[in-house]
Amino acid sequence: MASDRSRGWNLRREVKLECPKCKQTLDVPRDATDPPRTAKVLILCPECVGGDFSEANYFDAQGRQIDLDGKPMKDPANVE
Ligand SMILES: [Zn+2]
Repeated sequence: MASDRSRGWNLRREVKLECPKCKQTLDVPRDATDPPRTAKVLILCPECVGGDFSEANYFDAQGRQIDLDGKPMKDPANVE
């Protein structure tokens, strides 16, 4: 729970990038192309991506996968 409002987390919008392979995480500023309410992006890091195309999966603060409009898609259990 975000109890510390003095940090102004809604002003300093950051998203967490997480590599699904090596679990490396990185906090980055929100990108204009991120869907609204993006809190976390699952994407392969440069070390893991190899030559594969890396598809980004977006998640909101509740851990639900969201589509490009910021709407929840399926249950997290359905995500793979
Ligand atoms: Zn990785």
